[in-house]
Amino acid sequence: MLILGGTREARELAHIATGERGFEIVSSLAGRVRAPLLPEGAVRIGGFGGAEGLRDWVAANGIEAVIDATHPFAVAISANAAVALHDSGVPLVHLRRPSWSAQAGDRWVRVPDLAAAARVVSTLGERVFLTIGRQGVNAFAEPAGQWFLIRAIDPPEGPLPPNCEMLLARGPFAVADESRLLAEYRIDVLVTKDSGGDQTDAKLTAARAAGIPVVVIERPPLPEGAVTVETVAQVWDWLRVARGGIRSR
Ligand code: NAP
Repeated sequence: MLILGGTREARELAHIATGERGFEIVSSLAGRVRAPLLPEGAVRIGGFGGAEGLRDWVAANGIEAVIDATHPFAVAISANAAVALHDSGVPLVHLRRPSWSAQAGDRWVRVPDLAAAARVVSTLGERVFLTIGRQGVNAFAEPAGQWFLIRAIDPPEGPLPPNCEMLLARGPFAVADESRLLAEYRIDVLVTKDSGGDQTDAKLTAARAAGIPVVVIERPPLPEGAVTVETVAQVWDWLRVARGGIRSR
């Protein structure tokens, strides 16, 4: 199996696949993060060279199933996988953790993309906590008078907002720490992708408690006709059906 990774679910899959399930797997990482959390088992790092490169790699390495366990906002690799494996005879499933949903007391403003987030944030607050990772920060670089606290694992490249401070950190984060951060930096609006999952949702709880608005960037759509599951456990069910049971060692 090839696991397209870069997420906690991908690491969990690799752990179970190499352990109790006894599959031969290769996990693939893009190589964006300088010191990535490595999954168990074989790992390759770096792009494949588009859909064609991925198709060739899958064929050359005798891959029998592909699990796209990439982040919900990693659009290109998911699209490449769909194109590469179409009509290839190698089954593909997209593992997507469920979206976050608003709870009572939340003040969420849902927007379709980064550009819309940058537009709307200027109407919502003066001191912005930007938690969208290092990619996409450039969308907020145009001076609009606000101050930004930018949190990412590695520093973003390209233009940054003129008034900002970087906070390099990797989740998971605790609610108490997120609340402390909001208070310490006098944050009055939070920006996030709808990443889903419990690794980075503490900021949403903290924002709810503090009564501050949250700009939630909606997920891009998956490729048309994509087969999806929401949990690691469902991947095994899919595998059984997809291949009549991929053989394990
Ligand atoms: P992307 O825009 O979908 O992909 C851009 C290019 O990076 C792809 O065309 C592919 O290059 C390469 N690539 C991406 N994921 C890869 C993987 N797992 N293995 C090998 N090559 C990969 O991806 P992205 O948004 O930059 O995300 C990159 C990685 O970071 C993903 O693995 C994702 O799971 C993880 N991540 C992303 C986010 C996010 O917010 N986007 C957040 C957390 C983690 P080629 O065309 O050359 O094959």
